Amino acid sequence: MQQQVVISSPISVSTSPSSSAAASPKVKRRNSPISPVIGITPKTITKKKVGSGSSSKEKPEKKIGKRKGPLRPDQRQQAHEIRKLRACLRCKFLKKVCNKGDPCNGCQPAHARLWQVPCTRMNISDIGYFYKDWTADYERHVTCGMSITNIKGFSPHSQTLLITHGYEYYMPIPVREVYVVDEKVFEVDWTESIHETPRSFEYMTARLSANVEGISHSVISQYLDLHVDSGFERFVDEYYEGTQYLSELLKTVYRYYLRTKLPIIRQGLKLVVAYALTLHITMVQPFGDEDLGIDGRIDDEGSRYYGKVCAPVMVNFQVKKAMADMWRELMKDVLEELQTLLHSVYNGSKLKNWPTIFMLSSLILIVWEMMQFDSHYRIPDTKYVSNFCEEMEKTPIGVIVGLFGAISTKVPSFLEWDTRKHAHVLNNDVAACDTMTEVRAHVQKHETYLKSRSEAEFEREDFDSLSNKFLSKLVIRAN
Ligand SMILES: [Zn+2]
Ligand SMILES: [Zn+2]
Repeated sequence: MQQQVVISSPISVSTSPSSSAAASPKVKRRNSPISPVIGITPKTITKKKVGSGSSSKEKPEKKIGKRKGPLRPDQRQQAHEIRKLRACLRCKFLKKVCNKGDPCNGCQPAHARLWQVPCTRMNISDIGYFYKDWTADYERHVTCGMSITNIKGFSPHSQTLLITHGYEYYMPIPVREVYVVDEKVFEVDWTESIHETPRSFEYMTARLSANVEGISHSVISQYLDLHVDSGFERFVDEYYEGTQYLSELLKTVYRYYLRTKLPIIRQGLKLVVAYALTLHITMVQPFGDEDLGIDGRIDDEGSRYYGKVCAPVMVNFQVKKAMADMWRELMKDVLEELQTLLHSVYNGSKLKNWPTIFMLSSLILIVWEMMQFDSHYRIPDTKYVSNFCEEMEKTPIGVIVGLFGAISTKVPSFLEWDTRKHAHVLNNDVAACDTMTEVRAHVQKHETYLKSRSEAEFEREDFDSLSNKFLSKLVIRAN
């Protein structure tokens, strides 16, 4: 069961830290012809006293929609319909009554000036809906004859290959020779961005395939762990090639993880690596000096992988598919946790989880930026691509960025952050304050660049053309 609709309870929202700014002006309770606002849960929730010194700021409690007596049949009907429809994010977070409008009454511009979140009834954990049928990260090779109908059979003889993406870690994969109808399928191609204009390479690879079951979840997971635990910063430097802001922020998040050991931050970093590696070519690592004796050696000195051996294309695809499944799973975990943390802000935790929310939101946006680039880059159907990108930007990006803005009204902007003055805002949490100081330096350094990112457009030759497009929205405030 999903979250139930929250019908206004007489809880005071005026003293919670983020809501006083985020809450809309009082909803008028006159006889609106469209939809009278009714509270139907007369449960009284006694509000705990907050903090010690903040009582002077407390305003009298607002009594919202306290109901006396049973509902009229039409009211009951309306409550039923809203429950079926689910409350929108704003009404859920601020514990307001939602209605059927689109946007709902509470999200009408006049009521929600400080709440820049699209009115959606979706849970945050479901906000990745827009890529449900998106397969651009692994699909291309399926259409190149990778289909099962092309496979005539497998050799009974099995051997183990060490597969790597070139970041010093490898995973052992059992493979067998495969017999096919169309030999073209063994060709692999990729593009490298290190050249003035990106260059493409194409090689014939060995006729080898992993077992039909594909590659095990735990093998992929452990392999990804190595990238996070034993060389994350190096991975960032090599993979992102110094992409401004993004690389620095990833390293800052990583340092925060090292200090706090928060498992969800690690999941988020793993998500970024998993997505990045899904679109990355694989190679075979020789055992010692031994010559592998298989096709696929890269003999072009212009390639960054010169001298290495391309993984057999079927294995490359199998790794890709397993990696693609993995990042989807990680994204789901991260979105679920983000939902829990955001709810915690409005349920008494206030800004305790704010740094984690910032970092998870950043990691999600990093992946979504890459998905936009990869869509433009890999999908020939431009209509499909623009729909996909619009769909992503309409609600999902708006929700992530808008909610972060809504919970940040009591936090100084990144550019203004000064730990000596503001540490108390983050409960004097040293790791969080140091992260803020680091992020401030990154934002200061790239301020002009970050401010221009909302205009970013796809350029085929520039692999960074969409980097920081959404990420910048978290640190650059509209006002
Ligand atoms: Zn609503
Ligand atoms: Zn709404």
